[in-house]
Amino acid sequence: MAFELPSLPYAKDALEPHIDAKTMEIHHGKHHAGYTSKLNDAIGGTDMEGKSIEDILANVGSNAAVRNNGGGYYNHCLFWEVMSPNGGGEPTGAMADAINEAYGSFASFKEQFSNAAATRFGSGWAWLCVHSGGKVEVCSSPNQDNPLMSGVGCGGTPILGLDVWEHAYYLNYQNRRPDYINAFFNVVNWEEVARRYEAGK
Ligand code: MN
Repeated sequence: MAFELPSLPYAKDALEPHIDAKTMEIHHGKHHAGYTSKLNDAIGGTDMEGKSIEDILANVGSNAAVRNNGGGYYNHCLFWEVMSPNGGGEPTGAMADAINEAYGSFASFKEQFSNAAATRFGSGWAWLCVHSGGKVEVCSSPNQDNPLMSGVGCGGTPILGLDVWEHAYYLNYQNRRPDYINAFFNVVNWEEVARRYEAGK
């Protein structure tokens, strides 16, 4: 039961002009496909084969091949799903309440999240996570690490993630990472984030 590259939930040009089709094509078809196949190679024939990706990441330790490719597999699966051509705007209901509770306002949350994404040195991700009980937290992690792994400095279940590797934005934005971060908020699928919030709290 090998892991499989999921199809994009929308056309590769659906997020334009915020995220361009060429970037989506390479990011999904080459980068995510590569993490998926290398993850399968790394766990094949070990006791990790057949386990859930969440279980594998929670126990990954210092196994670099599984950490990098398992993280890459999981992180990109989440990333495609938390974006939508119908996205943008602000969350509502319990998701909005949790953000307001933690950050005071959506604008203040957006500033914290954008800052986490902009100041992550080198390659990595910015996250919004939910802890059991429903408290949410912004953090960032290097490389393909994520909050499901121990020792990354943030915990809980990731419900929103932003890829700030250069491969995620360089074709369209070059060195202007802050412009990419700002554009991302135009495509955030808050319905999906709220669904993950409910499941994770
Ligand atoms: Mn990526």
